[in-house]
Amino acid sequence: MEFNIIPDEEAMSKCAWCHNHISDDMEVFGAGAKLKPDVDLSEYESHCIQIGLVSEEKPIYMMVTAQGSEAKKDGKDCMFLFCSEECGRKLKNVLEKEISLGKMFGTVKFE
Ligand SMILES: [Zn+2]
Repeated sequence: MEFNIIPDEEAMSKCAWCHNHISDDMEVFGAGAKLKPDVDLSEYESHCIQIGLVSEEKPIYMMVTAQGSEAKKDGKDCMFLFCSEECGRKLKNVLEKEISLGKMFGTVKFE
C-alpha cells in the first residue's frame, strides 16, 4: 500500500475528517484503530498519512503510531484526531463501514 505523507506541522493540527485547523485552545477528540494483521504501515510510522476509503470519496488523515509509543502499547496501530463530536460521528460511520468492506482496519475504538 502506498500513501501520501502529510507534513507534520500541517497534519498535527488538522481534523482527520473535515481537515479544519485544530487550534491549541480547542478540545481535541481522538480515536484509535487496529490494522488487519497483513497490513504493514511500518514505513509510515510516526507520520500522518492521507488514506482513501472504500465507502467514502473524501480522503482522511491518519496518524501511524510508532513502535514503543504509549498508543502502540495500548493496541492502537493508528490514530485519528478530530475537531468536533459531529466529525467524530461521521468518521465513526465510515470507519465502521470500512471495517466490513475494506482491507485495512480490524477494529476501531472511539474514546
Ligand atoms: Zn472536523
